[in-house]
Amino acid sequence: MNVPLPTSLEDLAVEMTRHGWEVSWQRDHGTARVEGSRRGGAAVMATARYTLEKGWVTRFYVIESVVDGGTDWLRVRRSGLVQFIATDRLPADARRWIVRDSKCRCRKHSQATQWRALHLLAGIQLDRLNSMGTEQERRVYRCRHDARRWHLTSQDERTPSPWQGAAAAL
Ligand SMILES: [Zn+2]
Repeated sequence: MNVPLPTSLEDLAVEMTRHGWEVSWQRDHGTARVEGSRRGGAAVMATARYTLEKGWVTRFYVIESVVDGGTDWLRVRRSGLVQFIATDRLPADARRWIVRDSKCRCRKHSQATQWRALHLLAGIQLDRLNSMGTEQERRVYRCRHDARRWHLTSQDERTPSPWQGAAAAL
């Protein structure tokens, strides 16, 4: 398959939109991230960080849907990301590295995407109809230290999340 390679995060966002992903952005001093999510839990992400030594350093990540067996974020090459955006699949010969390291030190269970976290929350809330009395998780939030982790909490939101994006559609 011959998919043209976008040259910037903006181009990747255009590709995501074109292929029906729900797109969200976060920009900060020297960092930027664009993400796409899909019903079913598939997600794509491109990050850029500015360093004095190297200029913009970009990284690309994908995770397959639950049905496709996606359990971990994979770091991929740009070409792999572009193919994934178009097809929801990583070509068999595409390089991939399972993301194992994390700055998350929350000591809480985490889910890889908002969609997964919301599904878990919905399941817990259904279970609770039968068993009352335990601490009640009521919302999901993105880990402050790792954009590829989502936690559940029983706490109300204290400070608005810096993350801008539509809530994932279940
Ligand atoms: Zn965390």
